[in-house]
Amino acid sequence: MIETIAVPELTAKEQMGFWRRVAIRGSDECWPWLGAKTSTGYGSVRVRGRLYRAHRIAWALCTGRGAELDGFVVLHTCDRPRCMSPWHLRRGTVADNSADMARKGRSGSAKLTADQVRAIRSAGGSRREISARYGVHPTTASKIRRRERWAWLD
Ligand SMILES: [Zn+2]
Repeated sequence: MIETIAVPELTAKEQMGFWRRVAIRGSDECWPWLGAKTSTGYGSVRVRGRLYRAHRIAWALCTGRGAELDGFVVLHTCDRPRCMSPWHLRRGTVADNSADMARKGRSGSAKLTADQVRAIRSAGGSRREISARYGVHPTTASKIRRRERWAWLD
């Protein structure tokens, strides 16, 4: 799930192809990725036959430090996996990522109660609405509904 591979230098043509798939906006706004996504909601892009998380490419292109991503994650300060804004991305360690996820209540099923899980399963609305209402990540909400999380609960 966590990606910590270095990002290669992109040619001018590859860079243009990359930014064409980003909704470039102001410095105080998120820049949504318009291309392919992973099942967990991250932008996904193929560079010379290999798939990368798009926000890692964005960070590398804006800093010129793609080689320094070997062993590191790129974190979203805005908590939007699809965001490509260089102002919302920072390099961090895997430990930073875990701390970030725990702080945002994404560490999985541990923080929810059985009653909350039942409520998520019976509630209507989109996974985004569920996410906002119960303070879980949209992916977690989906997994709970599909019984990939808390599968043992009736
Ligand atoms: Zn953002």
